[in-house]
Amino acid sequence: MALAKHFIIVTIDGGAAAGKSSTARALSKRHHLLYVDTGSFYRSITLYLLKRGLHPDETDKIREALENPAVTTELRSREARMAIDGEVPGAELRNREVNEQVSHFASRQVVRDFLLDYQRGHAGFARENGFDGIVMEGRDIGSVIFPDADFRFFLDADPSARSQRRSDQGEEDSVEERDRLDTGRKSAPLICPEGAVRIDTTRMTLEEVIEKVSGIISNEGP
Ligand code: C5P
Repeated sequence: MALAKHFIIVTIDGGAAAGKSSTARALSKRHHLLYVDTGSFYRSITLYLLKRGLHPDETDKIREALENPAVTTELRSREARMAIDGEVPGAELRNREVNEQVSHFASRQVVRDFLLDYQRGHAGFARENGFDGIVMEGRDIGSVIFPDADFRFFLDADPSARSQRRSDQGEEDSVEERDRLDTGRKSAPLICPEGAVRIDTTRMTLEEVIEKVSGIISNEGP
């Protein structure tokens, strides 16, 4: 009797524009994994709170505001998208105000607590939808969300290379400032999780990064 395929959890952490999303998307396609971009969750919550006129320091009001929304997940192609009260936000997630504010909101415990179980719940969502596993990218996935994942990666690149990538994508984004805030915060700071595979992508093409990560998953598969 053929053994059931092992369900795998892959985590990719790293600073802004380190190549996480493109790598995770490619892995999702190659290995039939649910793709989960947790940065988009923090961006969605930021947008929701900004629309209510809230400031990152208003902890009680944020807690109150987060009691109301119904947060669900919609599957778009192989990607899990967060829906708030039935709506999946689009391009506005990457507008200037969200780019500027997201790390401030993400540093608040009340926001991180709100997203903790929601993020972990995606492993079950992936199983229910017939995926062979999940690839989740963010800042604290291998350290806090799935510390026992089958494969944990940390992508890094020189700040100048990362800023250049964002401007090549036509985006105005304060990559270094976000990294400074994400690395310096008390709760779930951006770190290379202990035992994760660290890859410096500064002088690598995207193809090379994908081959390397995918090769590790294929060769060391459980
Ligand atoms: O990945 P992206 O650059 O879209 O993430 C936006 C912001 O969301 C990050 O700069 C960080 O402040 C926050 N974030 C986080 N933890 C995660 C993913 C994103 O704090 N796991």
